Amino acid sequence: MKALTLGSGQLSRMLCLGSTPLNIATLAYDVREQRVVYPVSGDDTGKSFAEAIAWCDVITAEFEHIPEDVLSLADASGKLRPSADAIRTGGDRRREKQMLDNAGVASASYRIIDNKAQYQQAIDELGLPLVLKTAKEGYDGKGQWRLKKDTDIATAWPEIEQLLNSSQGQQAIVAEKFVDFDRELSMIGVRHPCGKIKAYPLTLNHHIDGVLALSVALGDNANLQQQATEKFAAIAESLDYVGVLAIEFFDCDGELLVNEIAPRVHNSGHWTQQGCYSSQFDNHMRAIFDIPIGDTQLIQPTAMINILGEDHIDSDIYCLEGVNVHWYGKGKRAGRKMGHLNVSASSYPLLIDKIERICTLFPAAKLSNISELFKL
Ligand code: ATP
Ligand code: MG
Ligand code: MG
Repeated sequence: MKALTLGSGQLSRMLCLGSTPLNIATLAYDVREQRVVYPVSGDDTGKSFAEAIAWCDVITAEFEHIPEDVLSLADASGKLRPSADAIRTGGDRRREKQMLDNAGVASASYRIIDNKAQYQQAIDELGLPLVLKTAKEGYDGKGQWRLKKDTDIATAWPEIEQLLNSSQGQQAIVAEKFVDFDRELSMIGVRHPCGKIKAYPLTLNHHIDGVLALSVALGDNANLQQQATEKFAAIAESLDYVGVLAIEFFDCDGELLVNEIAPRVHNSGHWTQQGCYSSQFDNHMRAIFDIPIGDTQLIQPTAMINILGEDHIDSDIYCLEGVNVHWYGKGKRAGRKMGHLNVSASSYPLLIDKIERICTLFPAAKLSNISELFKL
């Protein structure tokens, strides 16, 4: 079995690592450099994109912002899973909001903005505070504006206007009502081509400066897990989805609102590499190759800490019980996702202790007050 991933970053690398035990060989297409590479080493294969498409049995994607010509070529082969439409929905907030509305899944109230009149109308109708997001290309909180007070309205507009004008009709802004959430959760789940769905336990996510810093697999919360699973199923079915899908939620006093979806494996699901018998990478490959889906139950309390902008960690971290270190083989750059740590323990109090120990050995993670952050 042979797979080609669109994108050649860390998600493609971990999909490759998850594929090997299943006897699936993988290559990756570096969309920016237009090269087909080996996903772990990054070495050039010498194959063209067309040759790689012909070589593989299944094509999948590690990100949703794929140039339309690349996506169309992959789609035309009939090998793409999930579908081009599912990927386009995840890559354009206008489509995403429409899909959520059609599927009857609640998200923040919104308006789509293409010009100044619509900008003013959105502000009048939704009121402040507002979060403005570019319809396409945004990630890690980039391409967003916060309108909190009246003076922000005039300050933000010139930048937005310039973006809209320079995009030749490709870009728009989605204005969302600011959600006063208690915490952010995500659900990673998988849908098999036969329609069967399995979800992992909900994950609690903590962001610093718009970037995911820490994820913790939630233990027992049957009510939230059920709510999230129902929304997951409604979304996955409406997209006729195949593979791993991630959904980010705002938890508002026990009611879940969808923030956004990602039609792929997700940073907040990396803990499944050690926290479950079948990781998100393993299950994604199984689903797209029509292999039965594996166990998504939590083995023991598990968390993930992102390593951002660092290519070195204290050697004592390698020796800690229940800790796994994952590097992505990327060049060091400030704030860049360079790797992550998965941390497991036999109970949540012990997990918190272990994360706190890691924080003292790894101050660059900027994590503090762990038990406060996550009222487990
Ligand atoms: P990602 O890297 O997860 O793809 P992104 O750039 O697509 O991120 P969002 O997830 O939409 O952006 O938003 C980034 C963060 O901004 C969210 O995790 C949340 O903390 C905050 N946020 C987004 N939308 C809202 C909202 N409507 N109300 C309040 N906070 C919000
Ligand atoms: Mg996003
Ligand atoms: Mg997000």
